Amino acid sequence: MGKKLLTWFDANGRHDLPWRKTNDMYKVYLSETMLQQTQVSRVMEEYYPKFLSRFPTLFLLSRAPLEEVLSLWSGLGYYTRARNLHKTAQITKGVLPKTKQELVELPGIGEYTASAICSFALNLPVAVVDTNIKRVLKRYGALLDASDKCVLEYAQSFLDTNHPKEHNLALMDLGAMLCTPTNPKCDLCPLQEACLGKENPTLYAKKQKKEYISMELFFGINIQNGKIAMTHSTNGMYEKMLLFPQIDPIEENFLGSYKHAYTKYRLDVKLYKTDFVPDDVVWVEIDGFLEGHFPSLVKKGFRFFPK
Ligand code: SF4
Repeated sequence: MGKKLLTWFDANGRHDLPWRKTNDMYKVYLSETMLQQTQVSRVMEEYYPKFLSRFPTLFLLSRAPLEEVLSLWSGLGYYTRARNLHKTAQITKGVLPKTKQELVELPGIGEYTASAICSFALNLPVAVVDTNIKRVLKRYGALLDASDKCVLEYAQSFLDTNHPKEHNLALMDLGAMLCTPTNPKCDLCPLQEACLGKENPTLYAKKQKKEYISMELFFGINIQNGKIAMTHSTNGMYEKMLLFPQIDPIEENFLGSYKHAYTKYRLDVKLYKTDFVPDDVVWVEIDGFLEGHFPSLVKKGFRFFPK
């Protein structure tokens, strides 16, 4: 693999990504956390710089109230990521440990993120396996039905221990740019000569069927004097965030409905006019509602607010 792969990476890799120009563990950790479910362009242009300008260090993040962290995260979705980031900042008091074994003990840091921090920030000889790298390796080694553990061992056996960071990044970019899920560009691939899966690449890139959970949510819309009644959610992914209160629906008060998806959930959201005021009510101005730091789960309901 070695030399050809690195030469290709030198010429073609995505060297301009801001988190690739740093060896700051926190910045690598933050970028990897944001990138887990979000497109590179959104993270790079919007959320990563915004978050870093407010919390330039993990220590400053550890001192911030969770509500502020969640509000800065708003729009990115998958808020558990922000909660775990904050918890980790507090547990470590802003100083991340420098071994994979210790990193995986922290909230929200799994095998992948720990490996990424070790490799991209510390340049340790640790193999990184994300979705792109997994696909490349499965094709390269013609690994059919290989478990994650098996692919990880395979990745470690190929790791260029002299250039571990570049090696991992090169495989990542190769997967994103050439060894794509459909129509891989094998003719341009630096691994083509030794690749065992190039004759039938689709065989090694089968998607696992996802299972979804469908749920209905009934929200009450109570607007008085230009303000809407909202409440802090007490559980689940939206914990501590402002949502509309949940109510028992009365059909004649129906305002509208919309779909919302997050992680494995597929939500059917229904809005009803109501007089209900929750105990912990927070009255929020309707003016500027869409610019507020609310999850898109509630912003989507704005168009149904009674005039
Ligand atoms: S030769 Fe084709 S299938 Fe093999 S790693 Fe390269 S792009 Fe993927």
